Amino acid sequence: MNMMMIELDGSAGEGGGQVLRSSLALSMCTGHPVTLRNIRAKRPKPGLMRQHLTCVQAAQAVCGAEVEGAELGASTLVFRPGPVRAGDYRFSIGSAGSCTLVLQTVWPALMLRGQGESRVHLSGGTHNAMAPPFHFIERAYLPLLKQLGAQAQVFLHRHGFHPAGGGDLRAVIHAAGPQGLRPVDVVHRGEWRSSQAECLLAGVPGHVAQRQFGVLAKTLGWSPQQMRAVALSQNEGPGQALMATIVHDHVTEVFTGFGGKGLVAERVAGEVCDEIRAYLAGSAALGPFLADQWMLPLSLAVWQSGQPAHFTCSEISGHSSTHVEVISRFLPLRFDIEPRGPGCWHVTVAPA
Ligand code: ATP
Repeated sequence: MNMMMIELDGSAGEGGGQVLRSSLALSMCTGHPVTLRNIRAKRPKPGLMRQHLTCVQAAQAVCGAEVEGAELGASTLVFRPGPVRAGDYRFSIGSAGSCTLVLQTVWPALMLRGQGESRVHLSGGTHNAMAPPFHFIERAYLPLLKQLGAQAQVFLHRHGFHPAGGGDLRAVIHAAGPQGLRPVDVVHRGEWRSSQAECLLAGVPGHVAQRQFGVLAKTLGWSPQQMRAVALSQNEGPGQALMATIVHDHVTEVFTGFGGKGLVAERVAGEVCDEIRAYLAGSAALGPFLADQWMLPLSLAVWQSGQPAHFTCSEISGHSSTHVEVISRFLPLRFDIEPRGPGCWHVTVAPA
């Protein structure tokens, strides 16, 4: 069948890498070819960077796409997908670029269209600022996908931080099978169960953890039993991340701050505290990052099943609004977004 070419302006909305990744994912899932212009036009270094190019190459490998413009710095890309093939894949980002963003590019297609089980092995960054860290994928994103009926496992073999990279992440993705994905409502977070913080330290002195835990204790009243320093091998770094995991009955959220040269440890912890407080002050199920990442898999489930679904989130971020625009170009869906009091938005995704 000849599918209609979808033309997208990569400078619209957020104007970053997410437009590219989501377009690739949706192109593979729907079979629509896509032409992207002005790729990442709103970023200081526009065009395809190493990590984005790896996303294109990964998508190409998974579905045998015909691709024009897959070059570093390219601002235009044409992607014509072929049939998605389950299998063993290995993608190396060749920098500290985020493994999880590459994984999220191919995951929806392997889950929806792969026939059987796929094993994806990625090397690069596993804990990057401005990207979902491995533990966010494992604890927050994956459990939601499982609720759609999509089985998968993720494994962290080695941490990778910016700028050295060298992380090693593996995923096993099972295709959804003949019954497909089933949409699920994530409207209530449920009862609070636990809050805990981990400070990852690779080649970074232990006092950094103590200083950050001091901020959590003072700002949020967390006890020493809720906080754990994790000393990684020196050659996994240098790198440092403070991760806070908040577990409710129906949703687990992970908020992460990254240390780095010239960044004051207390300030990094203070920003994590701000994110936690903003989330806990409202009643929404999903925080801003999880909400934007949830939109794509949920939309696929709504499209495939013809059934609507709902969720609540604490914020409609620029990434979320951009996602609505991009998804609406590929899938005949309607998004209704309504405020539900302070710090809570109610989102309905329904067949158009
Ligand atoms: P760019 O084109 O901006 O250089 P990029 O390709 O890295 O960037 P963005 O378009 O900015 O990507 O998308 C980043 C993604 O990472 C978004 O989906 C966002 O939800 C997610 N993200 C960013 N920070 C976090 C975090 N701390 N925890 C979880 N997810 C995050």
